[in-house]
Amino acid sequence: MAIPLSQMWTVAAYVLKQKIQGRKRYPLVLMLEPLFRCNLACAGCGKIQYPHHILKQQLTPEECFRAVEECGAPIVSIPGGEPLLHPQIHEIVEGLIAREKYIYLCTNALLLKEKLPLFRPSKYLSFSVHLDGQREHHDFSVCREGGFEIAVEAVREAVRRGFRVTTNTTLFDGADPRSVRAFFDEMMDLGVEGMMLSPGYAYEKAPNQELWLQRERTRRLFRLILSNRKRRWVFNQSALFMEFLMGLREFTCTPWGMPTYNLFGWQRPCYVQQDGYAETFQELLEETDWTRYGPESGNPKCANCMMHSGYEATAVHHTFSGWRGFAETIRATFSLYKDPEAAQEIERLQPAPHPWELVQIGGSGRERTS
Ligand code: SF4
Repeated sequence: MAIPLSQMWTVAAYVLKQKIQGRKRYPLVLMLEPLFRCNLACAGCGKIQYPHHILKQQLTPEECFRAVEECGAPIVSIPGGEPLLHPQIHEIVEGLIAREKYIYLCTNALLLKEKLPLFRPSKYLSFSVHLDGQREHHDFSVCREGGFEIAVEAVREAVRRGFRVTTNTTLFDGADPRSVRAFFDEMMDLGVEGMMLSPGYAYEKAPNQELWLQRERTRRLFRLILSNRKRRWVFNQSALFMEFLMGLREFTCTPWGMPTYNLFGWQRPCYVQQDGYAETFQELLEETDWTRYGPESGNPKCANCMMHSGYEATAVHHTFSGWRGFAETIRATFSLYKDPEAAQEIERLQPAPHPWELVQIGGSGRERTS
């Protein structure tokens, strides 16, 4: 199953309306973080290191609705923390469905199976399940053995009950292209609607600072993974953003395209950097010095960033920049990116060691938990 036509049409109509109105900066996806607490402690996460009194707090449904209306974006992504730990998450979701927002509820899926009865299938609701690769890679990434099996079981049950389900995968240094490609096959076999990919971001608060992909390594990794695609793989993100990850095109960052609202207000400048907060969305748009952000700004925190939260909106904006952007998107959507060199490079790769072996070889800041 692909993205519903109604969602594609809603996004297209929204972007065209912004262009007709001559809006220079407009949001595409609201990143709504209703809480920071989580039931995992991933080594690459920069969201759960807040003090206990912050982790105990959460946005009310009314605060969420106010932010959604203020922002006006057609898509609302709900990351965290773990949103399913919010005691009113089903009320938040129902309120957003009533407002005809397309929701991606991002979850590690540890609680998904038991919480499914709280929700009803809707074209507006997708569970975006965090899975960072095949079993051993995912368990290593989230520092929890058995996490993959629980998440996969929840995906099966959600698909069986008729929910839209996607996966979101963050790739860090040391990712094994062969294994990632095998993971794509496994996810399509499970019946997910599509897959989303992003390189990790070097959060200052994350416990392990050695995981991050530098730009050139990011491009090489994504070229190996995404060249010579199988036709059955479906990706739930902009085809031009994927070309950007593969190093086939350059984009500048548009951090206002995916603004973040959380307990502190509207986060400057983007989902991954915290450079202060604005009280209103308008204040965020108008009073942020956007020239200080993006790789071309010289800001070291942006130098290696290729996150979807900075560049996916740029890619969508490019699609609607004219007939050329539209034609490039169609071509990119159906291209399999035949690349014999990439195929040979994958063949030459040594089998990657088991991720837990890397802990013994080099140390990773991870501890096994179960
Ligand atoms: S380049 Fe990355 S870190 Fe910098 S503003 Fe854009 S999304 Fe944020």
